[in-house]
Amino acid sequence: MRNSIWLILAAVMVLAACGSQESEDESTPTASAFETPPTVEVFPTPLPALAPIAKSSVQPPIAVNSPEPPIALPPTAVPEPTIAADPRGPSLEDERTIYAPDSSTFIQKSPTSVTNDTTLTPPPPVPTPETIEPLESRRILLSTLGHTWESAGPDITLDDIIDAFETGYILVTGQTPEQAGWTPLVLSAGEYIEFVTIRHPGEEGFLQATSYCCEMTTDGLQTVVNGGVSPGTVLTSLAHEAGHALQRINNPSQNRHSRDSNVGAIREAQAYAFEAALIRALGAHGNVNVSHLLIEPQTDEYVDRWRARWTDKKDDLRFEHERGFLILWLAALADGTPGGAADQIASPLRVVDPKTLFDLHQKLVALEPGEADSYIDTLMEDLSDSLNVIAGTISIRATQFPSPGSVEDSHAPYVVP
Ligand SMILES: [Zn+2]
Repeated sequence: MRNSIWLILAAVMVLAACGSQESEDESTPTASAFETPPTVEVFPTPLPALAPIAKSSVQPPIAVNSPEPPIALPPTAVPEPTIAADPRGPSLEDERTIYAPDSSTFIQKSPTSVTNDTTLTPPPPVPTPETIEPLESRRILLSTLGHTWESAGPDITLDDIIDAFETGYILVTGQTPEQAGWTPLVLSAGEYIEFVTIRHPGEEGFLQATSYCCEMTTDGLQTVVNGGVSPGTVLTSLAHEAGHALQRINNPSQNRHSRDSNVGAIREAQAYAFEAALIRALGAHGNVNVSHLLIEPQTDEYVDRWRARWTDKKDDLRFEHERGFLILWLAALADGTPGGAADQIASPLRVVDPKTLFDLHQKLVALEPGEADSYIDTLMEDLSDSLNVIAGTISIRATQFPSPGSVEDSHAPYVVP
């Protein structure tokens, strides 16, 4: 959050498109009736429209599902092509186009493919997943968050970001994605266009999304991420879609419900919980502030806009992303476990730690769809009081130490409990 950036925007509330737009749709031969095009998250942002960020390629007009279009910028203010096109672009080794973890982290094949010898043979030990060193985590985070590929290069590559993502995933879950039953598919900008054009012909939303969950390919369940967007967005998109992938694996019954439903909003709450858990785990690993906004007037204005957004959209099912953030907060405040989320929110740090966020993620994933309506109704009781606590907490935990990150790359680590 650079002062200069904040200042440019001081007077205007710009509702810019957030890059972690996604499709919740799994492409299968038997596409369900619930499939809808990817939506675009439209959030309050204190950042200037003219900042040279790859995400500015996400044009407000594609917010097709928004009941009220964002305050549109003059067309000339966003001259970039549809898909983020940094002149340098990320470096992406061909063999990493379809990403899979290092062989040392591979889980053993399923029992049916191993041996039919005897049931008394103990299973082979699962290799301990390897994480990068704290200093490497710090280096990558500092070079990734809030940067364009132009400004980040040549310090980091797409492979660095994938390594950091996997370390964060292991820190949170104790497993690699592959061990959990899925893999991230990271494509270069051109490959991403080609991929979604073949998979989803004529569906414009997929072209403009930065990532989505999921596809079932010959490599199994995969999240799909456009590696051509800003480095920070690649990292947070990987983290966000990982949250969706885990839900698909652990409670697929939730996918029978459309995005514009209470279940859809709960799915977003899960994804934001996991995204923030992963980024915060990486931040803690490398001793980098990734959760605290900067103390300055613009921060209070930013939080006020969130509060207004939540108040306006709390019952509007079309805004599953906004409602997802709100539901996550309310679920955290309702967590009365000693030392749990509510206690952490009330603690001097006022931030929920990665483990507890992952617990919240899992709790929300475990909800049966039939419980969703009453669950949210209960959470929304005394909403006005809750919003006072939520907005107050985000403001009070602001710090004088700048984060290298940017709410433009991801609101989640800054805005979740
Ligand atoms: Zn999502």
